Amino acid sequence: MSNFNGLMMEANLIGGQWIKADSGTAIEVTNPATGDVLGTVPNAGGDETERAIAAASEAFKTFGRTSLSERVGLLHKLHDALMDNQEDLAQMLTAEQGKPIFEARGEIAIGAAYVKWFAEEIRRAKGEIIPAPGNDRRLMTTRHPVGVVGAITPWNFPSSMLARKLAPALAAGCTVVAKPATSTPYSGLVWGKLCQDVGYPDGVVNILTGSARGIGGAIMESPDVRKVTFTGSTEVGKTLIRQSADTVKKVSMELGGNAPFIVFDDADVDAAIEGAMIAKFRNMGQTCVCTNRFYVQAGIHDTFVAKLKEAVAALKLGNGAEDGVQQGPLIDDGAVAKVEEFIADAAAKGGDVVQGGKRHANGGSFFEPTVITGATQDMMFAKEEIFGPLAAVFKFEAEEDVIEMANDTEFGLAAYAYTRDIARAFRLNEGLDYGMVGINTGLITTVEAPFGGVKESGMGKEGGSQGLDDYMETKYFCVAGL
Ligand code: ADP
Repeated sequence: MSNFNGLMMEANLIGGQWIKADSGTAIEVTNPATGDVLGTVPNAGGDETERAIAAASEAFKTFGRTSLSERVGLLHKLHDALMDNQEDLAQMLTAEQGKPIFEARGEIAIGAAYVKWFAEEIRRAKGEIIPAPGNDRRLMTTRHPVGVVGAITPWNFPSSMLARKLAPALAAGCTVVAKPATSTPYSGLVWGKLCQDVGYPDGVVNILTGSARGIGGAIMESPDVRKVTFTGSTEVGKTLIRQSADTVKKVSMELGGNAPFIVFDDADVDAAIEGAMIAKFRNMGQTCVCTNRFYVQAGIHDTFVAKLKEAVAALKLGNGAEDGVQQGPLIDDGAVAKVEEFIADAAAKGGDVVQGGKRHANGGSFFEPTVITGATQDMMFAKEEIFGPLAAVFKFEAEEDVIEMANDTEFGLAAYAYTRDIARAFRLNEGLDYGMVGINTGLITTVEAPFGGVKESGMGKEGGSQGLDDYMETKYFCVAGL
């Protein structure tokens, strides 16, 4: 069995020590494409987490005061370590998560790009000099690392979601206790190894796998953890926000989405199809910014559907490790059952399955990429996140109506629209209640821009110049008696 050139860490990192599972308690990690067991990871809980928090608190005393150039230098080395190992890291990511290898390579690269971005951005984390009301004093603001950060990440981008948290934390001088998702732990744990390899001191980065409640509970209860950053479901996010109250932690939350993708009659339909395929079928539909609802204007509807069907039918499905595969398996059987439930609900309410619609002949958690037309606002997927390879197409007539339908959800992460009318593009940006709006593109994530949602999709931004804010406190400094 491959250990991906020594990158597959079957242990937890606490205070610089790699701790293996106690006998008989290890959790097996499987490859969703083959069902093979890749290896095991420890089933850590509250005790291990308290030790990790203690190590992070101790390490913060010195790491929080390291010089800017030292922190920048370490981040550049970490970036290079990621890129030097890109191929092995991508193979390991695909093996545990299922996404096609070209997407996995891209995920490692964007994770590394976040590390480089924050290495650059921390050099511009300036304070302010504020005009004072009287001549006897000078006012300014200074910026400081928040302290120990708890980072909880999901399985769909097990490497880059941690990058967006770890990189700004380390840039600012924070120390970290991280918990990757149990189904995809190796892409998270390896960050600990790479951080050690490039010279981060013991205790700066600690990574635990195991009980979500045990680890999450200890992170949330600890007064020493000053900030929690979470990417995952809205349901768990709400629990963490509630739990954060007792110790008044800063929280940033990247939660669920329900992205509309609006195609107007004046759109370039081929460009819209290209964007639609990326925005819907990337990672088999398992991203929080994946299109959940296609709204297509009546005049272009039939052309769009015909071309979408054709593009979806042409998708190559298989083990993501094989070059050329565009669709791997879903993460597990529960994800497949959920997609089946959405399809059954839509079919019962008058939707037409025009492409796919069932489990794939490959078996396991493979599912046929699917298109449903005749979608309506009373179907389950109008309200809930699909998180699977199912494109639901709604037909609409007027711009005002589609904006209202698009906003008819408690979520507000990403929205997409295709139009060649520049005035309409600005009206959409102002009318759509979403944290991110993309016009004439299906892929908007980039390290330079702030990623984040409004409403129940979360709070706080990752990436961009704003991505540092959550990891730094602004202190007001007043010197009087001049
Ligand atoms: P997803 O649908 O992406 O699996 P979850 O919100 O269930 O989203 O999981 C995201 C991350 O949150 C995972 O690492 C998971 O183990 C963790 N998690 C789940 N429940 C809790 C909890 N009660 N407290 C802390 N972390 C949790």
